[in-house]
Amino acid sequence: MNKEIVIIGAGPGGYEAAMEGARLGHKITLIDDYGVGGTCLHWGCIPTKTFYKQSKLLYDMNRAQSHGLSYGAIELNHVELLKRKQEIVTVLENGIMRTLKSLGVNIIEGRGYIDGKTVIVKGTNKPVVLEPEVIVLAMGSKPKLLPIEGCKLEGVLDSKGLLALTEIPKSLTIVGAGVIGLEFASIFNQSGTKVTVVEYLDRILPTQDLAVAKRLMSYMKQQGITLITGAKAQCITKEQGALNLNYSLVKNSHSSNDNHGLDSNVNVLKSDYILVAVGRTGNITAFEPATSDIEVANNFVVVNEHLETSVKNIFAIGDINGMNMLAHGASYQGKWLMKYISGLENQISHLMPAAVFTIPEIASVGFTEEQLKEKGIPYNSNKTMFGTLGKAHAMNETEGFIKILTDYEDTLLGVHIIGADASNLIQEAVLAMSSHMPLKVLQSIIHTHPTLSEIYL
Ligand SMILES: Cc1cc2nc3c(=O)[nH]c(=O)nc-3n(C[C@H](O)[C@H](O)[C@H](O)COP(=O)(O)OP(=O)(O)OC[C@H]3O[C@@H](n4cnc5c(N)ncnc54)[C@H](O)[C@@H]3O)c2cc1C
Repeated sequence: MNKEIVIIGAGPGGYEAAMEGARLGHKITLIDDYGVGGTCLHWGCIPTKTFYKQSKLLYDMNRAQSHGLSYGAIELNHVELLKRKQEIVTVLENGIMRTLKSLGVNIIEGRGYIDGKTVIVKGTNKPVVLEPEVIVLAMGSKPKLLPIEGCKLEGVLDSKGLLALTEIPKSLTIVGAGVIGLEFASIFNQSGTKVTVVEYLDRILPTQDLAVAKRLMSYMKQQGITLITGAKAQCITKEQGALNLNYSLVKNSHSSNDNHGLDSNVNVLKSDYILVAVGRTGNITAFEPATSDIEVANNFVVVNEHLETSVKNIFAIGDINGMNMLAHGASYQGKWLMKYISGLENQISHLMPAAVFTIPEIASVGFTEEQLKEKGIPYNSNKTMFGTLGKAHAMNETEGFIKILTDYEDTLLGVHIIGADASNLIQEAVLAMSSHMPLKVLQSIIHTHPTLSEIYL
């Protein structure tokens, strides 16, 4: 029953799988070439949310007068923020390491490679060769490159590079209006950076409900961020220390953006730095896709409904399988897989909430209205504004709404929130949806007053 399992990659997918596997009695070896914690801890969720907290504080402080508060000028110390971020990362990394060790997980630092069903770890010491019964690929993802001239110039950064800057940019052009691009737009806009976002599609946040995305676009513009949709990045050049992003407006784009009076020929945006945030791709570092039997599509490892790859007993979890590209998605898959291998689970859940940490926040679970229309699923849509809540007024956070989509039997199909604390509020919808609770039952539950959770009533 108990198996020898090797996990390559110690991000939230790999380390949660290792902990769960060890708890279930399996013999686990966890391999990583960069300590434990992965992208999420070192260059993703945690660093960005540390930055986000600062930007939200700035946003609130700038509106403090309406709460009867006034004070002198606010001074930003970016180096202090970086120090705080690093302290948080270290505390969390040590915590993960302690738990793994206390559960008896064998941790090897080095780069893992697969040859057939053998794992070879190359690190500072001599290579370790392992022949486990089960291999779990949890190598995560890396930023997609922008295949245009000038993308390797100094100052053209990915999210990791931007997080490492020791100064606050005076101006920043962001290519890509997905989650990562917009979170950084919100963060640096509050720090005083002149932020311009250029997006190829005719809308921002393509995975979110359109009404929510449109509302965010209008809030971001009010906050001073320039958003240009339907715009194709053409090339980057450097002139007297400044970077120029050349872009053209996409013909026939149904852009909701007024495009600032620009024509459809090439336009130029000048800035100190450029962030490329055009998506992420699987980090296929442990095998050679051309010669391996492990099937890969669009740089992600293909898995079946049990997260098994095309090779028996080799599984893939988290970003590397491209299913949802979320830290909690990776953790869930890691834990689920260990239960599946132990014969305790058979059916994976696809109910995956997601949050976007902009100002205000966005969170969602289930189908968007556009997906329901596309699938021909009949639905009712209920919208409530944050402005109807006493607590939202007290907090001076009246922007936004909740959109609840139900079928004609009152079953929840999707919930979409834009507004204060959306990332926490969504959890009530996740609970209701995972327990198949009709909307009227959810609404009959007593909600504390005054709270933002009354948005569900
Ligand atoms: C800027 C940014 C912000 C984000 N914010 C959020 C957020 O707020 N919420 C959220 O849910 N998600 C967020 N994400 C996404 C989240 O970070 C990922 O979904 C999550 O880290 C995926 O976990 P994982 O375990 O699959 O892989 P990863 O966390 O990428 O971990 C993979 C690990 O494998 C190691 N590795 C790779 N190849 C090898 C090899 N051959 N041998 C040994 N080790 C190897 C890597 O060094 C890494 O440590 C964010 C991502 C970014 C970039």
